[in-house]
Amino acid sequence: MGDVLTTFLSARKCLGSTQGLRILDSSCAYRSPPMGPPGQPNYLNAVVLLGADMETEILLQHLQDIEKQHGRIRTEEHWGPRTLDLDLIAYNDTVMQTKHLTLPHPHMHERMFVLQPLCDIRPNWRHPVLKQTARELLESLAATGVPHLEERRTW
Ligand code: ADP
Ligand code: MG
Repeated sequence: MGDVLTTFLSARKCLGSTQGLRILDSSCAYRSPPMGPPGQPNYLNAVVLLGADMETEILLQHLQDIEKQHGRIRTEEHWGPRTLDLDLIAYNDTVMQTKHLTLPHPHMHERMFVLQPLCDIRPNWRHPVLKQTARELLESLAATGVPHLEERRTW
């Protein structure tokens, strides 16, 4: 919801100015159709590569603080419209599953809007459980008939 590109720029700036975090790389922003409840506007998705010197749970807390600063209100409705959603796709080769955090993100390999931007910046990144690279995961998903995202822009 809202002026998403402006939100993206502001969120990236917040990430880069958080102590212990630095921006190493950033993908294009891809427009994608909404998941979840119908009647939502299109989404915008991008992947940012961070250098991080902190525990995974602390990093997630920072992401949720930045979501909140950008007007995110957490509701019970899953995948409903929101101003900003910052998910942790992976953290080095960490494999974990706790109440608050699953790494790598459990749906990343099923989502064109994650794999396409990830391939912009790290096509050779290897999923520590599936043992496939980002490019291989993208090719596997495309082979099931999921279309590539056409509309992308720099930001
Ligand atoms: P979604 O991202 O699925 O649209 P939310 O942003 O509301 O939904 O996240 C719901 C919960 O998912 C968060 O409160 C967080 O604790 C949990 N979670 C588990 N793994 C991850 C992850 N890898 N990245 C972000 N959130 C995660
Ligand atoms: Mg989220």
